[in-house]
Amino acid sequence: MAQPRVPGGDEDVLELPCGESVRLEALDLGMREYDCNCGETHAVVMDVHPPERFLPEFLVEVLREAIETTSEEMPEFDTPHLLGIVLEEFPELVVTRDASENATVGYAMVWVADFDSHRLHEVIVELVVELMEHAVSHANDDAALANFEEEMTAFDVTEFVERYRAERDLEADDPYA
Ligand SMILES: [Zn+2]
Repeated sequence: MAQPRVPGGDEDVLELPCGESVRLEALDLGMREYDCNCGETHAVVMDVHPPERFLPEFLVEVLREAIETTSEEMPEFDTPHLLGIVLEEFPELVVTRDASENATVGYAMVWVADFDSHRLHEVIVELVVELMEHAVSHANDDAALANFEEEMTAFDVTEFVERYRAERDLEADDPYA
């Protein structure tokens, strides 16, 4: 007989946007995607994955310079902030869990998106471009803004993500990148 559901749910089970659920232990550190029972593949990101999984190092540096985080625990811009931006934009399509109390898994935070990791990658790049445009427009420098906008019209997110993923997978020396 099925166990009655505890209000608030089982701490070790993550309810996914598609209605399925997954045990936290089923997600391991090297996992970028989860093949779900719903038939879809969902992007998986953990705090141990560096932001370079999605963005080139120079851009991560720029973000670290430009963005003041409000978190005392994580003062430096990192993967959790990146996923925080995605979560803010798509609150119904991304779920997250603090697993730092769970000793059986090697990560402290996990995010699972409704979309696959390729689409998540595009979403992240799109949001970072918007974020940077916002930052540039607040700098009150019309020339810089015009310059940035011109560069961005020539910037193709789809193409960038294709190329970045191909190069990353060839060159990655960080197993979680
Ligand atoms: Zn699913």
